[in-house]
Amino acid sequence: MFDKILIANRGEIALRIQRACRELGIKTVAVHSEADKEAKYVKLADESVCIGPAASSQSYLNIPAVISAAEVTDAEAIHPGYGFLSENADFAERVEESGFVFIGPRAETIRLMGDKVSAKDTMKKAGVPCVPGSEGALPDDPEEIIRIAKSIGYPVIIKAAGGGGGRGMRVVHTEAALISSVNMTKAEAQAAFGNPVVYMEKFLEQPRHIEIQILSDQHGNSIYLGERDCSMQRRHQKVLEEAPAPGISTRLRDKIGQRCADACKRINYRGAGTFEFLYENNEFYFIEMNTRVQVEHPVTEMITGVDIVQEQIRVAYGEKLRLRQKDIQFRGHAIECRINAEDPYTFVPSPGRITTFHMPGGPGIRIDTHAYQNYMVPPHYDSMIGKLIAYGDTREQAIARMNIALSEMVVEGIKTNVALHRDLMNDAAFQLGETSIHYLENKLGFHAK
Ligand code: ADP
Repeated sequence: MFDKILIANRGEIALRIQRACRELGIKTVAVHSEADKEAKYVKLADESVCIGPAASSQSYLNIPAVISAAEVTDAEAIHPGYGFLSENADFAERVEESGFVFIGPRAETIRLMGDKVSAKDTMKKAGVPCVPGSEGALPDDPEEIIRIAKSIGYPVIIKAAGGGGGRGMRVVHTEAALISSVNMTKAEAQAAFGNPVVYMEKFLEQPRHIEIQILSDQHGNSIYLGERDCSMQRRHQKVLEEAPAPGISTRLRDKIGQRCADACKRINYRGAGTFEFLYENNEFYFIEMNTRVQVEHPVTEMITGVDIVQEQIRVAYGEKLRLRQKDIQFRGHAIECRINAEDPYTFVPSPGRITTFHMPGGPGIRIDTHAYQNYMVPPHYDSMIGKLIAYGDTREQAIARMNIALSEMVVEGIKTNVALHRDLMNDAAFQLGETSIHYLENKLGFHAK
């Protein structure tokens, strides 16, 4: 096994990766910005290196600084976590060229999946069902664009090939608005992602967001770890997730899961990954693949007993997957609430010092957080300060345990979204399950974009 891994991330995922390393007997190097120097996981790491000032562009996104930190500490591998450099193919390439192992897929796979047009094309060829839409990128000819939209049928959604994080998308309801919308999305895509290529999809009216977790080794083995429902979203950002997805039959799960595992074999995938789908009228439609560990991975861990981060490290080292598909059993139900430092209803971030911090406990409760009493939530990064996960034999039990845990949780000094989660646990539609991706925004009174 590796002797030492550098963790190129911050916050709860840096701590999560560190815990996986410790269990595997691997030493850890924490890299951090000046704003994170007091963080708990930085102190707990075997070694730490300051890689720059608070701004991510000068620290967590600073490729030469991360690589030189690996060089001076003699780490063997780099775990990128999620966000930051985790889906940056150039970074993966530089890591491997510098003689380190990148804990994730090969750079060419990241590049292929990072462009949504090539990702969709690859998945279509691999037999994964996709949202009906344009054949690849949209052409320049307006007549042709109008013809494509007509054949798909309105409403359609224009999406940037290089988009991510819920940005670079525009819904079009009528032909009159089509060409100006395409041009605006192109201009935005060029400005935000440096790539003006856009494509068109049928806009699904009431879909759910359901995703499949997969694991692949470097010896041609791939398995799926079931699905997660992440339909509770605001501005295309997930708020809470659960596994399994309510109302999905074993037969359908196995069918779509196997397609994903087979697609991984086809593209020689390495590591953990997620196939994201929209789900409507019993059909799955692929939208994109995430080539990294996801925020919501714990709900899958809870119902399968598989430690996804440890498996990532093992397969990166070159080990064969120890688990076969038939070893994967789905047991019980898990829900994750993302705890954010923000106003629960306006969503305005609320950084600052945490003065009181009491975490819940009891059967089936898991908390992944880097925060603690007196912790200063920096204003420079994502507002998520932790994840509360509740497990139960049934969905009802998981909801009941989550409700109790939320009522026990006390965080003072900053605002958090705990009140919103309490509201959701007691929401009649959520309790029934199978709510669409627009449910939360409608409930909150926003217009779905
Ligand atoms: P990103 O990489 O920015 O997260 P995705 O392609 O994963 O972009 O889409 C993010 C979200 O946008 C989806 O979860 C869904 O809410 C919405 N969305 C994307 N494509 C469609 C579509 N064809 N119809 C309806 N909603 C969509």
